[in-house]
Formats: sequence, C-alpha cells, structure tokens
Amino acid sequence: MKKALKYEGKGKALFSTDVEGELIQVFKDDATAFDGKKHDVITGKGHLNCAISSFFFEKLQAAGIKTHYIQQEGDNEMRIQALKMMPVEVVVRNIAAGSICRRLGLEEGLRLQRPLTELFYKDDALGDPMINTEHCELFGWAKAEDIHAMRQLARDVNRVMSDMLEAVGIRLVDFKLEFGLRHGEIVLGDEITPDGCRLWDIESGRKLDKDVFRQDLGGLSEVYHEVATRLGINI
Ligand code: UDP
Repeated sequence: MKKALKYEGKGKALFSTDVEGELIQVFKDDATAFDGKKHDVITGKGHLNCAISSFFFEKLQAAGIKTHYIQQEGDNEMRIQALKMMPVEVVVRNIAAGSICRRLGLEEGLRLQRPLTELFYKDDALGDPMINTEHCELFGWAKAEDIHAMRQLARDVNRVMSDMLEAVGIRLVDFKLEFGLRHGEIVLGDEITPDGCRLWDIESGRKLDKDVFRQDLGGLSEVYHEVATRLGINI
C-alpha cells in the first residue's frame, strides 16, 4: 500500500510503503521534453511505460543483472527496493543521435564501432552536464569503482536489450540508465521505457520513442503500444 509521497518528477512519482526499504514507483501520463518546456498529458502512457519497464527489468534480472525491481502492481505502479541513488546518469550509445551529434558534429545514424558510455551529472538547473570519472571522485558523487561497475552493468544491459529488441525488428540506438547502492553494491534503478531510449524500426528507420513527441512525429501512445506489442507484452 502507498503511504507518503517522497518525490515527484516529470514522468514518475515515488511513494513510501508500509514495508521498510520498499517503495512504489508510479508512472504518470505526463510527457515532457526540452526541460519541461513542452508538456502534454497522454492517456495510457503511464500504463504502457509501467508494463514496458517491468518487462525489461524482469528480462534483465533473468539474465543475472541486479536491479531494484520487485513487481508490477496494478496498471501503472511498480514495487521497487529503495536504493541510495547515485547523482550520475549513464548513457549508452550504439548509434549517434541527439546530444552527441550536436556536441561532436556527428551525423545522426552513424553506427559506432563499439558501444559508448557517457556520464551526466543529474542536475536540472545545470541541464545535466556531461562529466567524467574524475569529476565524480573529486566532487564526491561516486567512487571510481562504482562508476566502473555502472559502466560495466550498462554494457551488459545494452547487450540483453539490443538482442531482445533486434529480435522484434527494433534497433536500440541509445538509452539512459540510473543506478543506486544496495548494501554497498551498485544496482540498476529508475525505469527503462521509450521515454529514455531511442528505438528505431530496423526496416524503415521509423522512430518508436519519445522523439515522436519531441519532434511532433505522430501519436506517442500508438508508438509505445507498438513497441509493447512487438515485444509480446500484454496491455
Ligand atoms: N535521456 C534521458 N533523460 C535525460 C537525458 C537523456 O532519458 O535526462 C535519454 C534520451 O532519451 C536518449 C539518451 O538518453 O535516449 C541520450 O540522450 P542525449 O544525450 O542524446 O540527449 P537528448 O538528445 O535527449 O537531449
């Protein structure tokens, strides 16, 4: 049972529960982009994201990757273990798109020779700037060994997810992960949804992720529904 609201973000809210160390993550119907400047409410998005995220976490756990996931509860709620979250986001890229193209002048769609991991400091006011391991150590955000573990886990997640998506005709272009500590060990937290991934249809190149909302390419829930259906998720 949900108790007190602990945190509310753009796409999710976090509640304490009557079980110590367990939280409920609620997926909202809100869609935001460009630091919240673009905002919409898309009926059914919370349900779709919760189902997709639960599906990925279950597959990752089955592949031996430690995550905060306990179970999906109802349409848009996920029971999770409380972690001490790291203030660092890890982005994995297989193909150049988004900020790396702007930053390095790369053409969208360039296939990278191997998966690239990038670190960003979680700070909305600063616009989540890119950082490296030295920043993390120097400013006490994360130990070098924790960053190493996060990057390693992110690469493992990339392999599992890329294979699963490729099997249903979807290319995993890039995605963002967040991690936390559980008894001193790095564990995957947060969510895995098309809000935080770039997914392209392999045959047509059609975008099947939040870029549809960012770039006004059509209906977001239709596209998320297509991703869920292709993966065999019952909605
Ligand atoms: N991403 C995210 N949250 C963020 C920043 C990025 O989920 O705060 C995801 C984004 O959806 C994409 C990947 O991380 O799948 C890489 O994003 P990028 O650095 O290219 O930034 P963007 O183009 O989204 O500004």
